[in-house]
Amino acid sequence: MFRGIAAYLGLAVGDALGATVEFMTPAEIRHEYGVHQQMIGGGWLKLKAGDITDDTEMSLALGDAILSAGKVEPVSIAEAFSDWMRSKPKDIGNTVRRGIVQFRRTGQTEMPESEHDAGNGACMRSLPLALVTLHQPWTQAQAASRLQAHITHHNPLSDAGTECIMQMVQAAILGEPRTELEWLAHDLIQRYPPFEYRKTRRDNPSGYIVDTLQAVFQALFATDSFETALVEVVNRGGDADTTGAILGMVAGAHYGLESIPERWLQRLNPAIRSRCTEQARALYQLANQGHSP
Ligand code: MG
Ligand code: MG
Repeated sequence: MFRGIAAYLGLAVGDALGATVEFMTPAEIRHEYGVHQQMIGGGWLKLKAGDITDDTEMSLALGDAILSAGKVEPVSIAEAFSDWMRSKPKDIGNTVRRGIVQFRRTGQTEMPESEHDAGNGACMRSLPLALVTLHQPWTQAQAASRLQAHITHHNPLSDAGTECIMQMVQAAILGEPRTELEWLAHDLIQRYPPFEYRKTRRDNPSGYIVDTLQAVFQALFATDSFETALVEVVNRGGDADTTGAILGMVAGAHYGLESIPERWLQRLNPAIRSRCTEQARALYQLANQGHSP
């Protein structure tokens, strides 16, 4: 359970740290901060120190919807996303907005498949699915992942990347070694070669799932702690809150709660910190219902 909590806090910490430098280049970050490693807020969204963005907010909305339905049920998830959009979030991706608008107009919870929907928006909010399907057979977990993803993003690269991150988080929570995480990345590349991350350094990663995950994999596998991995990925700029959030959930689960620096946990908005902790616990409990270890 604690690794599940660490994954959730890692996600929020990564989002809050990365948001400061979202859309900056590595050179601009160096000029402004040297190495960006303090949770100071600001950025283009003018955040307070410790505040998070849509990445964490959508995860929490998704998790709440799963918990109140007691299962992964697309209409209640789409309604939760729609309520979240109504709350006038600081930031919302175009593909996410389009999916929610389609749901409001038609009641449809699945966008048509589109080659343009390969953004990282379904992946960034996938942690509740990783937690609640922890003990399910993979085909079932995968189907559940697609129910939530396709509300806004219906694309094979988005699906494959999202499912790879889910599997990494689950493997890490179950205590699998780092070689297993590397194997999961390798397996993704075998099936979808664009994800190959070992050739060129990915700076300024965009919101395209391939760019995002290349930066995440490079930072994760080139470092040996939560802190060094997260600092490495956010200092590449680009979609830094989202690379931070995705790396944060995997690294949190892999390195554990004690590995997340206290200075970041202390700064994280306290209401968000407790919502993440409580939701991780509740999803873990739901995952364990009917599961005999
Ligand atoms: Mg964001
Ligand atoms: Mg972002």
